[in-house]
Amino acid sequence: MMRLSALQVECVENFNVKNLTSLKIGGAVARCYFPKSVDEFVEVAQNEGEAKIFGNFSNTLVSSDGYDGAVIVTSKMDGIKIDGTKVFAECGVKGPKLSQTVAKQGLSGFEFMIGFPGSVGGNVFMNASAHGQCISDKLVKVVCFSKEKGVFELTKEEMGFDYRTSRCQAESIVILGAEFVLDKKNPDEIQKKMSENLEFRKSHQPSLALPNCGSVFRNPEGNSAGKLLESIGAKEFSQGGVKVWENHANFIVNTQNATSEQVLGLMLKMFDGVKKRYNIELQPEVRYLGNKNENEVRLCGILNVK
Ligand SMILES: Cc1cc2nc3c(=O)[nH]c(=O)nc-3n(C[C@H](O)[C@H](O)[C@H](O)COP(=O)(O)OP(=O)(O)OC[C@H]3O[C@@H](n4cnc5c(N)ncnc54)[C@H](O)[C@@H]3O)c2cc1C
Repeated sequence: MMRLSALQVECVENFNVKNLTSLKIGGAVARCYFPKSVDEFVEVAQNEGEAKIFGNFSNTLVSSDGYDGAVIVTSKMDGIKIDGTKVFAECGVKGPKLSQTVAKQGLSGFEFMIGFPGSVGGNVFMNASAHGQCISDKLVKVVCFSKEKGVFELTKEEMGFDYRTSRCQAESIVILGAEFVLDKKNPDEIQKKMSENLEFRKSHQPSLALPNCGSVFRNPEGNSAGKLLESIGAKEFSQGGVKVWENHANFIVNTQNATSEQVLGLMLKMFDGVKKRYNIELQPEVRYLGNKNENEVRLCGILNVK
């Protein structure tokens, strides 16, 4: 363990993040920071100019060879403030916890978040959505950080939200927290909706007992990545310790201590199959952290994995 001077931010050197990831794949990160507040975050970000930011690693493939650089994990920035229908959540709050917390207050709008493990920061960055709801629906403003501007705010309109994307992806803006205004509703109705959402997931998506990172590819406009992949027989595809899930062709599951290189190899097979049959280039939803394995960096280039 190493400590920074002024605010004593927790930092672990050569920290293996594998068990933090929903895919249960990954290697050692040279310097991994766990700030507990905005002040701590800013201190680390200023000391570590190139640090990468992660929440719950549920949309990220971490290289089995690790990452030679600094990573800030936001999981300890997990405060929630509720004032009437106004809710402020720090970036590290996990979606399911936020969903349950507001439901108990009779606040509706986050029922969709109950079934997947993203953090508020990751969800805003990705504009996460499910079951007809989206994180940007009830969002009012975001507290952000960038090296150039320090801490600043962006309104919903300034966030450039679109399908699985936000302005933060193009401009390297960090989300420190977000404010929402939710709808008042009967808590029983909210709980019922959340139970239905969880039930739907049981039959349509692999549980985390089968390590995965959610949908691998984005849906092309007016089409379904899962259907395209199923039509080329992807449900039969496997590589080393990973395979395409037998019940939905847009999920890769880690069945036998897989490596990140195997995941990217399998993604290339899926990508090539759809391109050959339909001349459609699927765009990956999953993100990548790594800089030590040349073949992986090459595969990310071909696949356009960011
Ligand atoms: C079983 C399962 C089901 C899923 N179902 C869905 C679903 O229904 N809908 C859906 O949209 N997604 C789904 N996902 C994908 C995933 O949960 C979401 O993409 C989620 O938003 C990722 O959040 P995270 O904190 O885990 O992000 P991470 O994996 O930690 O990071 C993802 C990206 O966000 C960036 N990031 C993270 N935090 C911040 C921050 N504070 N500021 C700036 N950038 C940040 C990272 O740099 C990275 O590029 C599912 C995943 C799993 C494993």
